[in-house]
Amino acid sequence: MPIATVNPATGETLKTFDALTPEEVGRRIAASAAAFRRHRTTDFAERARLLGRAADLLDEDRDDIARTMTLEMGKPLAAARAEAAKCAKAMRWYAEHAEALLADEHPAPAAVEDSGAAAVRVRYRPLGPVLAVMPWNFPLWQVVRFAAPALMAGNTGLLKHASNVPQTALYLEDLFLRAGYPEGCFQTLLIGSGAVEAVLRDPRVAAATLTGSEPAGRAVASVAGDEVKKTVLELGGSDPYVVMPSADLDRAVRTAVTARVQNNGQSCIAAKRFIVHRDVYDAFTERFTALMDGLAVGDPLDEATDVGPLATAQGRADVEELVDDAVRLGALARCGGGRPALPGPLAHGWFYEPTVLTDVTPEMRIHHEEAFGPVATVYPVASLDEAVGLANDTPFGLSSNVWTRDEDEQRRFARDLEAGGVFFNGMTASHPAFPFGGVKRSGYGRELSGHGIREFCNVTTVWHA
Ligand code: NAP
Repeated sequence: MPIATVNPATGETLKTFDALTPEEVGRRIAASAAAFRRHRTTDFAERARLLGRAADLLDEDRDDIARTMTLEMGKPLAAARAEAAKCAKAMRWYAEHAEALLADEHPAPAAVEDSGAAAVRVRYRPLGPVLAVMPWNFPLWQVVRFAAPALMAGNTGLLKHASNVPQTALYLEDLFLRAGYPEGCFQTLLIGSGAVEAVLRDPRVAAATLTGSEPAGRAVASVAGDEVKKTVLELGGSDPYVVMPSADLDRAVRTAVTARVQNNGQSCIAAKRFIVHRDVYDAFTERFTALMDGLAVGDPLDEATDVGPLATAQGRADVEELVDDAVRLGALARCGGGRPALPGPLAHGWFYEPTVLTDVTPEMRIHHEEAFGPVATVYPVASLDEAVGLANDTPFGLSSNVWTRDEDEQRRFARDLEAGGVFFNGMTASHPAFPFGGVKRSGYGRELSGHGIREFCNVTTVWHA
């Protein structure tokens, strides 16, 4: 994939970039390692000052960087602004809380005595330069979610961003430099995916985090495993959205639409499979279809647009293949199921209609694969057990949503759903204070909260006789 900004709404190439040479990459890794030697010795107050300044600058830049994101990957402008604001909030959260999250731990006196030590404490020390391989779908947020805790912990960052968001990637490096971070603390490597292995094998690079697809995660984790380097993987998802009879159906339906089409349907934590109790199945499906069908598809720079284009031609082709396969095998497209007819330059964009599929069976690819676009599958179920079984019948385990006001049912779902999150009567969202991540093929490790910042730390036992 060339490193370039191509407007997904029109297919027009706006700017191309040359990849760094291996020598340039080597110089940047050396700068990262040198910056780490200094940055690791700074105190939390200094780190918080720098990150707070980055948050202020990001707030000032919000409109400009939002427009850049929309031009690079097609998300509606309002969503891009909200993403920038969320990033500033996460930076401030880590600036404020990192010191407490990484405070020394003191084991119980009885354990210390039992060990024969005079004193023992556990320290969280940084690891070194961390490589972040990131996707285009939340091009600021995915990076900040890694960078804010990593920098507060005393690590340095090397960003290999997706090849279709180079301007957002370069903006991030510039942002941290303007905030006052020393040269080398946070750098963007404009490289293709084929150049990742060499970076990861460099002995100066301590660890890696990857957010993206399962094949990319497997590739990076294999190399990291071979090098015995720590990884965190945030991969795909096909989250269930269960609606039980006690649900507030009106809210459940409206939230379902947002949960499916946010970010033009390209969110790992989007609700993708709607599992609805048969008592409310007809009412849910009818209203959900009507709302999905009524969404405004169009130019993401237009404030009236609900759903913009998919980010890449390949992304749209993947979604088309999944829907066509399902329909060929008997699924019913209640709405959508094809490309919308849009006027002018938008006719060349990578748009896809919001689509609702019913009568989906396990033979269809969409039953097991992630639909990374505005396509929902709706299944009827007769009981809670059937709902749990179907919700877990997926290789993924990122998050899950359940609509029920019955407390016994809530306990069962919270116990039995195979996912890194269970959200009741609302849609999955991330917050800096709560851990984020998945199980099964959705990856391992956690981002955000104390769990996230400790992933890239050397948990050190300090023992005194
Ligand atoms: P992708 O193709 O896997 O790309 C993600 C990143 O990995 C890009 O920087 C890409 O570089 C790089 N990459 C791809 N193949 C690689 C390889 N073999 N070795 C090293 N690096 C490689 O994913 P995407 O299409 O951008 O994003 C969509 C996927 O990400 C979906 O499955 C989605 O669910 C998942 N996702 C997960 C989360 C989460 O938090 N769990 C969040 C967002 C997205 P190039 O661009 O140069 O190819």
